[in-house]
Amino acid sequence: MLIDAHCHLDFSAFDVDREAMFERARAVGVEHFVVPGTTRARWSAVLALGKRDDTSVCLGLHPYFLDDHEVNASRLAPHRLGSDRLTEGDDLDALEATLDAHPEVVAVGECGIDARFEASLDAQWALFEAQLRIAKARHLPVVVHCVRANDQVAKRLKEVGLPAGGLIHAFAGSRQQAERFLALGFLLGLGGAATHERAQRLRRCVAALPDHGYVLETDSPDMPPAGFKGERNEPARLAGIADEVAALRQQTRSEVAAASTANAARLFRLSL
Ligand SMILES: [Zn+2]
Repeated sequence: MLIDAHCHLDFSAFDVDREAMFERARAVGVEHFVVPGTTRARWSAVLALGKRDDTSVCLGLHPYFLDDHEVNASRLAPHRLGSDRLTEGDDLDALEATLDAHPEVVAVGECGIDARFEASLDAQWALFEAQLRIAKARHLPVVVHCVRANDQVAKRLKEVGLPAGGLIHAFAGSRQQAERFLALGFLLGLGGAATHERAQRLRRCVAALPDHGYVLETDSPDMPPAGFKGERNEPARLAGIADEVAALRQQTRSEVAAASTANAARLFRLSL
């Protein structure tokens, strides 16, 4: 059995064939799915998927969609998000209230830092820190989007100290960065990036990871594996990712499946 530990199955890219997409995944042994939240407007669709026995969900505010979030500037002082968009109950209040109302939610996320968007880094950090505080207070793991910011994020995670750890999704860093995250009780999400020949540093890192240190994920509909460039990604592709990771690690597919499934179940406290 395989678990797709990070896939955006609520996205409209799947509206046309969502049931068939689940079917295709099941047909190749992908039997459980963890769907992160991205914006407040999408949480209801995410929670609706969470009613399925084979799907677990997370709620958070994704840095890529920063402009969609409404956050009261006073709460984030001295940082500011879009100042003309102050509301009474902001999206962080809504996150706390929605987590209170939905104990089935397994993690806070997707949240984090995307350093490709330099102009908004202050606001991104403020939003990320607020979500780390929310996760810590609730003893929930965090699902972290971390692009070109591994060192800074690892440093901050260490300072904050999260008892339930979390997932560095779509990890693409060095071995040393991997070790820092593992030492903090975080797991690394391996997906399409590891299947590309040119990702030599990452592939060496994947080969050297301990069995307890990773989960498999597709990040569907994004990050198609090698050979599927430009196509919509979907959880059925996790089977190919498992084969690739097994080859890099010189293990069998079933060894990789057993380790990654146990790791995802432990992190998200899944009862499978
Ligand atoms: Zn994602």
